[in-house]
Amino acid sequence: MRVQVLGCGDAFGSGGRLHTCFHVSTGDQQFLIDCGASALIAIRRFGVDPNAVQTVFLSHLHGDHFGGLPFLLLDAQFVSRRTTPLTIVGPTGSQQRLHNLMEAMFPGSAQIERRFSIDLIELAPERPRSVHGVTVTPFEVPHPSGAPSLALRLESAGHVICYTGDTGSVDAIIPAARGADLLITEAYTVERQVPYHLTWTALRARLGEIGAKRIILTHMSPEMLDTSVRIEGAERAEDGLVIDL
Ligand SMILES: [Zn+2]
Repeated sequence: MRVQVLGCGDAFGSGGRLHTCFHVSTGDQQFLIDCGASALIAIRRFGVDPNAVQTVFLSHLHGDHFGGLPFLLLDAQFVSRRTTPLTIVGPTGSQQRLHNLMEAMFPGSAQIERRFSIDLIELAPERPRSVHGVTVTPFEVPHPSGAPSLALRLESAGHVICYTGDTGSVDAIIPAARGADLLITEAYTVERQVPYHLTWTALRARLGEIGAKRIILTHMSPEMLDTSVRIEGAERAEDGLVIDL
């Protein structure tokens, strides 16, 4: 299994990083985890074939995590000429929010006839779903986004990836992250409290309990990106980083 970071920035472009998006390939399966506003730019930059992506898993419905979908879908229709179905898996409310987003950004685009179908699956917390060879189990986390925000535990090809999304609580991510082969976790600030976001200090204190094999930090503010801040027991993500599991 190969994971490539297509974007690990926060909403505000800290460090010039792209919005959240991770690309996972497992032989015959390819999927995205989150699709932030800049995802299609990253797809081009890092040479991902958008037509090969079967599924997009969404942690929550903030623009830096799902705002790239209109560009992805319009590209599929008009440029990449997709013909195979695309499955989008997200929290309850995803269908309506995606419709609203499409209409706000490109009026009429939600209703156009496409050469491919969009299968949208809305997740219920703590109910595993199997989608194109990936079993996803969502856990609700505290992070207001107009819909339930989720930490995602994804199992595929014998590996477990946890992506925390954005969350104000370490407790909430523990069932999603426990023993994961790869934990991709928000670490927004070092210790400064920002409502509904994680600090590295709070996370670090629980890493032993979580017991993930490899830990990648994402969604970092400038203070976390400052390399004079020493990080032990985890690595900072970078756009383009490739992780082989
Ligand atoms: Zn968010």
